[in-house]
Amino acid sequence: MNFSQTIIRWYNKNKRDLPWRHTNDPYKIWLSEIILQQTRVQQGLPYYETFVKKFPTVHHLAKAKEDVVMKTWQGLGYYSRARNLHHSAKFISKELKGIFPKEFDEIKKLKGIGEYTAGAIASFAFNKPHPVVDGNVFRVIARYFAITTQIDSTEGKKEFTRKAELLLDKKIPGIFNQAIMEFGAMQCVPQNPDCEKCPLKKSCKALAKSMVSSLPIKSKKNKIQTRYFNYFVIRRNGKILIKKRIENDIWKNLYDFPMIETKKEILPPLSRLLSEPLHRMELVGSDASLIERLGGVSIISVSKSFKHILSHQVIFARFWEVAESEHKKFIVNGTEINDGVYISESQLNKFPFPRLIEKYFDAKASKN
Ligand code: SF4
Repeated sequence: MNFSQTIIRWYNKNKRDLPWRHTNDPYKIWLSEIILQQTRVQQGLPYYETFVKKFPTVHHLAKAKEDVVMKTWQGLGYYSRARNLHHSAKFISKELKGIFPKEFDEIKKLKGIGEYTAGAIASFAFNKPHPVVDGNVFRVIARYFAITTQIDSTEGKKEFTRKAELLLDKKIPGIFNQAIMEFGAMQCVPQNPDCEKCPLKKSCKALAKSMVSSLPIKSKKNKIQTRYFNYFVIRRNGKILIKKRIENDIWKNLYDFPMIETKKEILPPLSRLLSEPLHRMELVGSDASLIERLGGVSIISVSKSFKHILSHQVIFARFWEVAESEHKKFIVNGTEINDGVYISESQLNKFPFPRLIEKYFDAKASKN
């Protein structure tokens, strides 16, 4: 039995029962593939089910309001995936009359779809002979053939894609692609794979050369950026001020609070953050629990620092609770930061927030 036959046989015996494996509907396969980018199956599964229920067809997704799509995506991270999904759904619904493109090159033109996802949709939904090379496939191929080329180099990407093309079972490309991905996810796992149980153990070169734990090889290490966010949680008449993030930055189109980003951590008192003479400041004390009055604006409290880790960034956020006695422009360092909407706490669940803001609300709720 050759590599492909062995992998497919293993897949038929061991595959997980996942809902997107019971459909040929390209819309649902597309949804699942976008959700599963950078996301583990266990985390992505409930999101897939909610999306399919809320937006059963591409027309439903296209017609949905952006806030509703972002809210449904909340907690999954990499929010550009949701924005691109929505954008492409509108395009398919309107320009393509709801008919999903069948050809790899046409699929790849959709926003948010690269080589990998186009190959997955073309092969899973339309049985087109395109290889898919995700992290799992890189690992299986690198180990099975003991390839030491860096998987994130241009040369590596070409070499591994060529190998995957050669291995591809052209009669059943969809099944083969799913099989090799599942094999990497379940059997040839990143740490300590159980090679003794592996059906490929007799021909696996990495196993023969004791190279399993050192493959695949990656060149780049993620450069981690540290950022400091100073949020102003402004309350007036029982309502809270939120604003939409519209900059090309993390969490675009999600909501948070007016915020100043600083190059280092700023500890209370507020005088360190605010510049004179925009506010007359009467500093009562430097302790976070003390009240600092700024005309009609009072700092009620300052939170502890919340640490939030993303793939390329670590964010330290502090929440400055502000009460406004009257409608007042809140100006910091010459910029008006009062650019949002006041909502009641009961409306919070209608708006999509990043996980960091949810953590803050959770911490508040557990204190009350
Ligand atoms: S023998 Fe081990 S390293 Fe080789 S393919 Fe199987 S699980 Fe992966």
